[in-house]
Amino acid sequence: MKAASALEIAVFEGDGIGQEITEPCLDLLTAACEAAGGVELVFKRVAAGAGTYLREGTALPAESLDAARDADAILLAAMGLPQVRYPDGTEIAPQLDLRFELDLYAGVRPVRSLPGVPGPLSDPRGGQLDFVVIRESTEGLFAARGKGSVEDDRVARDTQVITRGVCERLFDFALDLAAKRRAAGHPGRVTCVDKANVFTSFAFFRQIFDERAKLRGDIATDHAYVDATALNMVRHPWDFDVLVTENMFGDILSDLTAGLIGGMGVAPSADIGDNHAVFQPCHGSAPDIAGQGVANPTAMFLSAAMMLEWLAEKHQAPACANAGAAIRLAVDQAFADGKLIPKDLGGSASTLAVTEAVMAALHHPQQAQPAAQ
Ligand code: NAD
Repeated sequence: MKAASALEIAVFEGDGIGQEITEPCLDLLTAACEAAGGVELVFKRVAAGAGTYLREGTALPAESLDAARDADAILLAAMGLPQVRYPDGTEIAPQLDLRFELDLYAGVRPVRSLPGVPGPLSDPRGGQLDFVVIRESTEGLFAARGKGSVEDDRVARDTQVITRGVCERLFDFALDLAAKRRAAGHPGRVTCVDKANVFTSFAFFRQIFDERAKLRGDIATDHAYVDATALNMVRHPWDFDVLVTENMFGDILSDLTAGLIGGMGVAPSADIGDNHAVFQPCHGSAPDIAGQGVANPTAMFLSAAMMLEWLAEKHQAPACANAGAAIRLAVDQAFADGKLIPKDLGGSASTLAVTEAVMAALHHPQQAQPAAQ
């Protein structure tokens, strides 16, 4: 039987580099929880992914889905391999199946620069990026997944679906997040990103956004078209706070935002629903570097920190929040002097070297330096 304070985490290590970054992350989680005290995580390893599909003929076995449903939270590394596909030519993607099965409508993609990790842009005001993209994750164009058609080898169709029920919960989530960010000193503004100038479904999306914003009343909101948003993400991303958008647009924009902070190896994410949540790095299984010991585990560590912070809120467990904050601070501290440079960021630090640096920072946290006058 679990101790009262023990929380069960379903762990999907998946494929490729997923299998290399999972163990370091579980070690870090355990160390952070021990240091915080008052919280214990019990890890339950669960099978899914391309390897599972090749072995068992299913990418997400029923018992794995049950384990995910039963867990307090789900931690996922990376799944899929380009050569492992269904007969229709699409890839197996249990990470997407989980979003649909568990109704994880809010894909949260924080865009926060790490100290010491330069991005490709230089801010004339010297500021670090800190904004959030919320990608709807259960419908939009992805509603067509597995339902597309090709007629007579001449015309292919995939249909976008936008529903009122999902949009209302999505926009309320975004507005709540903006309120929390405002309380933490951010502007607290939500931008609805769409293509309402062209498509009926996006005009509906925007209409529901405006309705929910009006009901809420206390949060500043605005709109932007997705094409202009892509432009402005490169020109002045410092101006964004919370962006909320459709599934496919969010899929594309969040890779762009990962690029803004250094790349996929440092970009965490969470897929959150009303009852369940999956925490995973934005990247995939990176078969091109799998097995070399050079995968950057940072995005996985930061996703684990998000998991602890979500658990803290769900279970009113401040110890979880402390452990999550400690991981985030340890990551910042490990990179801060600019000397820890993993391979994907242009250096040579291995998965082990990054893990050891973050673990050392966790055990020896430095006091934050007062800002220069
Ligand atoms: P990818 O994210 O796996 O890799 C893109 C590039 O980024 C590669 O050059 C890779 O080496 C590099 N990279 C990614 N993560 C890294 C890390 N942590 N450290 C260092 N370098 C890293 O994307 P892809 O190549 O398009 O996809 C590979 C497989 O992963 C495909 O089968 C795809 O479907 C799957 N995928 C899974 C997820 C997921 O599980 N959530 C997400 C995206 C892609």
